[in-house]
Amino acid sequence: MSDPGEIRKALASWVGYLGDIGVRELALRPATSSPQRTEEPRETLPAIREHLGDCRRCKLCETRTHIVFGVGNPQAKLLFIGEGPGADEDAQGEPFVGRAGQKLNEMIRAIGLTREEVYIANVVKCRPPGNRDPEPDEVATCAPFLFRQIEAIAPRAIVALGSPAAKTLLGTKVGITALRGKWGQFRGIPVMPTFHPAYLLRAYTPENRRLVFDDLKAARARIDEAS
Ligand code: URA
Repeated sequence: MSDPGEIRKALASWVGYLGDIGVRELALRPATSSPQRTEEPRETLPAIREHLGDCRRCKLCETRTHIVFGVGNPQAKLLFIGEGPGADEDAQGEPFVGRAGQKLNEMIRAIGLTREEVYIANVVKCRPPGNRDPEPDEVATCAPFLFRQIEAIAPRAIVALGSPAAKTLLGTKVGITALRGKWGQFRGIPVMPTFHPAYLLRAYTPENRRLVFDDLKAARARIDEAS
């Protein structure tokens, strides 16, 4: 995105979203004086994990067993983002290892990739009790770590799995049914919203399977085209 009008619109939408979810302050880094700034070295995933520490920044820490940071190739071209760990993930400390994880593995294989080639993370890193959706304050606290992971991995495309992931990355309140199948952007990285594998398990219709497969094929084409 290089058009200043577009940048202003995206920024206004993002700031509006942060306001809606209760963020009242933003820490801004001072701009460097040189307009021809050389690229800062990218943060690494281990450094981000270390900063997260034994996180107690939100109430999810009280009921979690493990922090579920993310798994996969730190230089992945394709990044999958779900909403938050479930019971299996909380027990094992790895994202998407339960039934939804088996389905996600199938989805990844369907486009000729493996779990080891991609990276998988969630909007929140601790299990919301009873598998409820993460609450706005939890997302506001945890998402900055996800955003740093995205910057560190610098994937060619992101697949947002389900509403919380799509809304968080795209800074919108629009639901997944309207968003899916249409490219959005997160800090210049193409984002393809699609149905969450757990939804697919519940509503395993030929139509839903075709829609998700179409979305994944589009993501695969996008990472190949950028080669
Ligand atoms: N659902 C998610 O959104 N993430 C997981 O890690 C597991 C299930």
